Amino acid sequence: MKKLSVAIASVAVGLLALSGCGQGGTPDNPADGGSQAAAPEYTVNESADVADSKTWQAAKDAGQLKVGVKFDQPGLGNVTTGSEDPEGFDIEIAKMVGAQLGFAPDQIEFVETVSANREPFLQQGTVDMVVATYTINDERKQVVDFAGPYYVAGQDLLVQADSDIAGPEDLAGRKVCSVDGSTPAQRIQDEYGDAELVTYDTYSKCVTDLQSGAVDAVTTDDAILRGYAAQNEGELKVVGKPFSEEPYGIGLPKDDTALRNAVNDAVQTSMDDGQWTEAFEYTLGSAEGVQMPEIDRY
Ligand code: GLU
Repeated sequence: MKKLSVAIASVAVGLLALSGCGQGGTPDNPADGGSQAAAPEYTVNESADVADSKTWQAAKDAGQLKVGVKFDQPGLGNVTTGSEDPEGFDIEIAKMVGAQLGFAPDQIEFVETVSANREPFLQQGTVDMVVATYTINDERKQVVDFAGPYYVAGQDLLVQADSDIAGPEDLAGRKVCSVDGSTPAQRIQDEYGDAELVTYDTYSKCVTDLQSGAVDAVTTDDAILRGYAAQNEGELKVVGKPFSEEPYGIGLPKDDTALRNAVNDAVQTSMDDGQWTEAFEYTLGSAEGVQMPEIDRY
């Protein structure tokens, strides 16, 4: 697999801040301490044919599928020092969908996306799809399409282990950090206006600020926050009271219905044949009690 970092200096800073800590959320040490599952292997469907999809046809001709993923979210999409490729549940979802669309793992190019550039990257053709903790919502559907959902997260808070913050209602007058172009930042603005919102382009910068005491909380999806908490056990904790639903979709260029149908079929197949569960246990820990969402073929 090849990875391509799209000049974002912050990633180096984020990785530096995280180095020396455990690799929570990676297969070596799953974020919630789950099983040491084996690396899933996906069978490439050599006869895949999505010829009605312009995006698929161009990728097939080029012999390469470009997938936008996060590089600093342990357990989901994460690049660690010493590892060549990103790792995490989103990465496995990309590989399993890619295989069913006829792309071997070494034909997938992982491109770093941050929250704010996911729509532009799809609109400009920088990537063919986005698998990056990407919440499906109507506003985003104006400019991109979504397959899935393949997982449902919820907005939560990450705080210092000894913090008295027990929910979003305790944020009044406190500094809370999130990311530009994300649904959690928007929700703080819309519903918790008494909080002082600080934003960056990546969550790892927020975590650095939380560690230094520059902010009182970090807010985003619980799935993301659990990875950071696992890396900073005893120092940071997830409050654990989710206050939204964040259905994760696979972002696709708008109006490529053939591709959307094919990706939905691929996700459904992987949920039915056990690959989804294997991928979850490899990256996030035990899948016991974890709900597989219903695909929304809108
Ligand atoms: N799922 C939320 C979103 O798509 C937050 C996570 C993120 O920023 O990637 O905005």
